[in-house]
Amino acid sequence: MRVIVVGGGIGGLTTALALHARGIEAVICEQSAQFRQLGVGINTLPHAIKVLDGLGLLDALDDVGIRTSRLIYKTAGGQDILSQQRGIDAGYDVPQFSIHRGKLQRVLVDAVMARLGPDAVRSGHRLLDFHQTDTGVSARFKTEHGEVTLQGDALIGADGIHSAVRKHYRGDEGPPRWNGILMWRGATWWPPFLDGRSMIIAGGMKAKLVLYPIFDSPDHPGETLMNWVVCAKLGNASTPLLTREDWSKPGSAEAALAHVRGVFDLPKVDVEGLIAATPQNYVYPMCDRDPLDRWTDGRVTLLGDAAHPMYPVGSNGASQAILDAVCLADLLSHQDVRPALAAYEDQRRPATSAIVTANRDGGPERVIDLVEERAPDGFDDLHDVATPEELTALVGAYQEMAGFAREQVNR
Ligand SMILES: Cc1cc2nc3c(=O)[nH]c(=O)nc-3n(C[C@H](O)[C@H](O)[C@H](O)COP(=O)(O)OP(=O)(O)OC[C@H]3O[C@@H](n4cnc5c(N)ncnc54)[C@H](O)[C@@H]3O)c2cc1C
Repeated sequence: MRVIVVGGGIGGLTTALALHARGIEAVICEQSAQFRQLGVGINTLPHAIKVLDGLGLLDALDDVGIRTSRLIYKTAGGQDILSQQRGIDAGYDVPQFSIHRGKLQRVLVDAVMARLGPDAVRSGHRLLDFHQTDTGVSARFKTEHGEVTLQGDALIGADGIHSAVRKHYRGDEGPPRWNGILMWRGATWWPPFLDGRSMIIAGGMKAKLVLYPIFDSPDHPGETLMNWVVCAKLGNASTPLLTREDWSKPGSAEAALAHVRGVFDLPKVDVEGLIAATPQNYVYPMCDRDPLDRWTDGRVTLLGDAAHPMYPVGSNGASQAILDAVCLADLLSHQDVRPALAAYEDQRRPATSAIVTANRDGGPERVIDLVEERAPDGFDDLHDVATPEELTALVGAYQEMAGFAREQVNR
């Protein structure tokens, strides 16, 4: 069996590795000419790390990421709402990682090259179109040397939020759905806070600040590569998109700072200094797409952001793409292509659609919205606003729904 994977992001690369581990040939076709280390920080949750550990990548991840120890939910004003241990510190068998997206992608590309051989990675291949017959799939790509056609038994569209594979079936869908929130994202070397492995999320869906360290280096003693995200609600679902969904679109420090000054107050972190010191930040609209009622057509299916783009709350974007990959590879190793792809959709579509919907409501970070709604001017005693049980239950229900409650991962 030979599988054509369209897209060399986290989802596509993990799919190729998982297929190879089960004796199935895979070729990845990525539109970019090179794998440059694009993006800033992402978080990968224990259920996804378990998959990557199963692929023998834990040491490589330790070399380039940080094992997250704690997540603290705060109000924008800096009052603590809930503090939870994460990963190994929370009793999971495997860590949660805070990591630079480009470094995670590099770990995966290197593993694909080493295990499947360099010929398995075709960069500079942009999918133009494809068609399937009873016996296989043929896909046409644009390269700098002209058009190339590849044949396979299955085609997996792991080509992100602007997926050409999805568009082939849902050309009427239009652009992603924006919720009126703009996000500025950046990372720079900065003094660590707390134990140097903790994550802070301050503020609900109207104004949110996310901070976590993603890399330590002996070249930067006393500092960590600090990732930050500032989210500001500037419109609503009917507001015209202010900027296209381009992960690499430069943003300005002044624009980000305008949504920080007088909004966030974290006494132990100089957030304004951090943003001002970041050489380049990126601006991205918070957007997703409505869950589809179908991902699969015979020998063709969707995976990762192509299948279920979701708001980046709850740290699930990359993690769910990794779970898709292992599910698909497992099923393809036991069944013919068409029943395997149908079974993959049966398992993964409802699970991820539920996360897309929950994330629209803030995901686990809903605990912050809840407290800010009930106590807009802050509180003297959190117990007057919400009980610890109520807050823990909200976060726990999200973890279970997204498949990363401790019992689900450790079993
Ligand atoms: C450049 C970039 C930077 C990002 N930065 C961040 C970040 O900082 N923080 C964050 O939370 N998330 C970021 N993301 C999104 C995050 O990586 C995904 O949400 C998550 O990892 C799921 O990944 P995926 O593999 O499904 O999709 P993606 O990571 O989007 O990967 C899709 C891949 O498909 C390729 N592709 C698209 N169309 C075609 C085509 N027609 N033919 C061939 N290849 C195609 C793209 O070039 C890309 O490499 C970024 C994505 C990209 C592409």
